[in-house]
Amino acid sequence: MSAGDSAGEQPTFTEAPRSSPVIGRPDVLVVGAGSAGVAAAVASARSGADTWLIERSGTVGGLASVGLINLLLTLDDGEGTQVVAGLCQEVVDRLEAAGQARYPAPPQWGSADAALVSHWRSWGLVWGAPESVRYSVAYDPDAFVDVCYELLAESGARLRLHTHFAACVRAGGPERPGPITAVLVESKRGREAILPRVVVDASGDGDVAASAGVPFELVPIPPHLWFRVGGVDPDVAAGAGFFLTTAPGRVLVPWGPHPVRVDATDPDSMTAAELACRLSARESFGALRRDHPAFGGAWLDGYAGMLGITESRRMIGDHVLAREEAGVAFPDSVATTGHWTRRGAVFHIPLRSMTTSTVPNLVVAGRCISTTRYVHQATKEIPAAMATGHAAGVAAAMAAATDSSTDSAVVSGVDRGRLRARLRAEGALVGGPDR
Ligand SMILES: Cc1cc2nc3c(=O)[nH]c(=O)nc-3n(C[C@H](O)[C@H](O)[C@H](O)COP(=O)(O)OP(=O)(O)OC[C@H]3O[C@@H](n4cnc5c(N)ncnc54)[C@H](O)[C@@H]3O)c2cc1C
Repeated sequence: MSAGDSAGEQPTFTEAPRSSPVIGRPDVLVVGAGSAGVAAAVASARSGADTWLIERSGTVGGLASVGLINLLLTLDDGEGTQVVAGLCQEVVDRLEAAGQARYPAPPQWGSADAALVSHWRSWGLVWGAPESVRYSVAYDPDAFVDVCYELLAESGARLRLHTHFAACVRAGGPERPGPITAVLVESKRGREAILPRVVVDASGDGDVAASAGVPFELVPIPPHLWFRVGGVDPDVAAGAGFFLTTAPGRVLVPWGPHPVRVDATDPDSMTAAELACRLSARESFGALRRDHPAFGGAWLDGYAGMLGITESRRMIGDHVLAREEAGVAFPDSVATTGHWTRRGAVFHIPLRSMTTSTVPNLVVAGRCISTTRYVHQATKEIPAAMATGHAAGVAAAMAAATDSSTDSAVVSGVDRGRLRARLRAEGALVGGPDR
């Protein structure tokens, strides 16, 4: 081992080469169990692929549960038509069955009726102007986790928590790098290797894509830290600064943004943001207790377990979906989404915005897919993340099922017609010319 420390350069430390135990050779490995990753793993396993899902934390859901972002915005186009269904709709149905979802009935979608708008605004479900009722869903985060666990168990996907993606290894040399051959993970067991045929990057931050050398755009953003407050007068009329929840007497406070931007891929930047946001959120809770009569006997029910990061890395893939492509029905469209603050804007998401020709056996889902910053505002939302996760899972399983005697599975090479037909058969709204 050696250490180098020349003036002005980051010192480096060279480890001795080492061998890591191979713990599995799944058809599909999904990295990150947020809303996109859970959807991808369930969809892949349901398609018959041996599917593993790894997650660095001790639970699933990511921002949609741990991050307390408990609002599915939006499953419609703002004009009364549903544009996200499939696995996301299944989750809503199961939350509803558990009594842990609140959302407007279909006849209300698109309505500008002032009383209805005001009612659903108090649940955090109305945004943008002009205001209208949207098909959006407020839900309980623990119920969301339970539903995800149920879906994963039923699908047969293998979940491994407390396991951090560390790096991937690609075939070929530095001049002509090929497909991903190994994914190295770290846990209390040390470093281990997984040898998947296809990898789904659902890490939110595009960790796999970045490690594989895929180009990306990285945007530092002002972080949030949402928190919940219990013991609030259950008859409180929701006002600015908090939303009603499925538990009477508990409200959700969407605290943020903190004024200092954070690079979500820099742990020092994240640590400073965690401390600063926590302090400011606590002060904000103190002000609510002091100034709002309904909060006199209230207590802080818990901060989000992860910072609210709207944006970090976005892969630059085979297609970068742009604002002017709203409404364009791509032949390889695999999902659609509306925009949570715009009425009538619908994006058809092509498979090409989730693949990269540089790494054939990689597909990306969720908030790190290949879009411009503007379109990311729409595709980052939980329903859209679940829709791209659903599509990525089926595409990954199909690619993994191709002849394994060839060099690599090629996700962009799957039969578009069959992929779209399968997704449709599973209730997904895939968009495209013949939807
Ligand atoms: C403040 C804020 C408000 C928002 N409001 C809304 C809203 O009202 N409605 C809405 O629908 N959306 C909203 N969003 C957007 C939405 O919450 C997220 O974009 C969406 O949840 C992203 O899902 P994801 O699965 O792509 O990523 P994430 O939820 O970030 O999941 C990524 C998962 O990968 C894991 N992971 C990361 N790196 C690794 C690694 N190296 N190894 C292993 N695991 C890893 C993480 O722990 C996490 O579980 C909001 C976001 C923010 C920040």
